[in-house]
Amino acid sequence: MNITENIKFIQNQLKEYNGQLIAVGKTKPVDMLMEAYQAGVRDFGENKVQELTEKYEQMPKDVRWHMIGHLQRNKVKYIVPFIYLIHAIDSLKLLKEIEKQTSKIERQINCLLQIHIAEEESKFGLSEEELFAILRSGELGNSQYIKIIGLMGMATFTDNQAQVRKEFKNLKRIFDKVKSEPNLPDHVQMQELSMGMSGDYNIALQEGSTMVRIGTTIFGSRK
Ligand SMILES: *Cc1c(COP(=O)(O)O)cnc(C)c1O
Repeated sequence: MNITENIKFIQNQLKEYNGQLIAVGKTKPVDMLMEAYQAGVRDFGENKVQELTEKYEQMPKDVRWHMIGHLQRNKVKYIVPFIYLIHAIDSLKLLKEIEKQTSKIERQINCLLQIHIAEEESKFGLSEEELFAILRSGELGNSQYIKIIGLMGMATFTDNQAQVRKEFKNLKRIFDKVKSEPNLPDHVQMQELSMGMSGDYNIALQEGSTMVRIGTTIFGSRK
């Protein structure tokens, strides 16, 4: 496993699309993440709050940390002081908790809303209807510290590329629909579309992804 080579390879593919790489280091030790850092990566993703805060403490301070996993409300307070982007928000309750914790420290935080696009039922995420209900709800209009800058989604885990493409296309359609929606609050601005992992990031980029979250292709498989 040559982390530096893997990153160069992916960055080359990303250039064509102007995509942003988020290196997903979950379960991997800090020295492996540091190799990615030395290769120029500054955006790192984790899916567990404990691991995220531990790595934050050990890594250089110019790293931008992305929380890509499901976030429990009672853990929001541990990450708001330093998190760069929260990817997987799928309820108004969670948004409100983020607003509450960020207002305490007066720090604005960028957020993505997670949309359920996969066939599998186990995956988290909002339906299109739920998304628009949140965006139009007056409650969100009062928030000062939350900035919703886009959407995130995960395709079905399958070898069927047509299926995966269809799901990414659907997410892009929803993204564009929100983008063209009049009368949204100022702090909702569709700029980022976080979709694509090791197995499907090429399709995701072709379908309009702006951020890919890649672990295995950089760091090798996880136990
Ligand atoms: C683990 C994880 C990834 C990266 O998965 P790989 O297949 O290893 O690239 C991306 N997104 C989320 C939400 C994850 O939990």
